[in-house]
Amino acid sequence: MVHQESTGFCQVCNKNMLLRRKGTNHILHLILSLITGGLWIIIWVLVTIKVGGWRCTTCGTKSARDLLR
Ligand SMILES: [Zn+2]
Repeated sequence: MVHQESTGFCQVCNKNMLLRRKGTNHILHLILSLITGGLWIIIWVLVTIKVGGWRCTTCGTKSARDLLR
């Protein structure tokens, strides 16, 4: 599983921390979108919103960055 890393503000640690989330395989989703004639884009968006939660690597709390992305 690919992970993406970024920095952002953690409300629990009360400072900017290293954040991590599960990466989305966008190439796979692109191929599936082409095969299904675009219908897969709906699932692609849902997966990206649900799975793409930024979490603080120190305390594991979901970051407010979720609301921005
Ligand atoms: Zn934290």
